[in-house]
Formats: sequence, C-alpha cells, structure tokens
Amino acid sequence: MEELTLFQKIICRKIPAEILLETEEALVIKDIAPQAPVHALIIPKKPIPRISEAEEEEAALLGKLLLTARAFAAREKLTDGYRLVINNGRMAGETVPHLHIHLLAGRSMGWPPG
Ligand code: 5GP
Repeated sequence: MEELTLFQKIICRKIPAEILLETEEALVIKDIAPQAPVHALIIPKKPIPRISEAEEEEAALLGKLLLTARAFAAREKLTDGYRLVINNGRMAGETVPHLHIHLLAGRSMGWPPG
C-alpha cells in the first residue's frame, strides 16, 4: 500500500494541525512555519502530488480550491490583500509532494518573489 503523504495524515487526524476551515474537498490549516502573519495552506483531500500532475478531470476540484481560498480570505476579512502561491517542483521550493495553495497575508509582499 502507498505511504500516506504528510497532508493525508493531517487530513485523517493522524498528525495534529491547526485546522482553520474544512470543506468536503479540502482542508485549510495554519502553516507550521508561517512566513507572514496569516499563512494558511489550502489542501485538497485528494492527494494530487503537484499541479503539474493534475488531470483534466480534476478541473472542478482545482477551481474549488481557489474558491476555498477566497472563502477563507473573506471570512478572515483580508481586505488589504493576500497572495496565493503554489510551489511546483524542487526549483520552486516544493517540499511536500501533496498539492497545496499557500495563502499569505498581513504584511506587504515583495515582487518578484524570492
Ligand atoms: P511547500 O514547500 O511544499 O510549498 O510547502 C509546504 C509547507 O508545509 C511549508 O510551508 C511548511 O512550513 C508546511 N509544513 C510542513 N510540515 C508541516 C506540518 O507538519 N504541519 C503544518 N501545519 N505545516 C507543515
């Protein structure tokens, strides 16, 4: 049997995390090493390894992840703005091979990102 990803273990409550929001398809948790005053991870319950391996049939799920980010930002009243980030692959800084969207807010963000 395939080893569960770190985020699957969080989703099934084998590993604790601060859960901020849960939907049928996704879990939103607080990042363990926050890079901004607000740093949440929007994680699909389905373990898609990374965006480059997402399938056409997962289009609706991918859209729902963005809408979940929007709902979380609205609930938290992040009216000054927020940034959504997906790290895809080693050079982009991906460290957990289970797709997730970072939501960062609460400080000014530089551009280009590091
Ligand atoms: P990546 O580097 O793959 O884009 O993002 C992985 C993120 O997961 C990192 O920001 C890292 O801090 C976070 N992370 C790693 N392990 C844990 C954990 O056990 N719990 C939580 N809540 N976040 C984690």
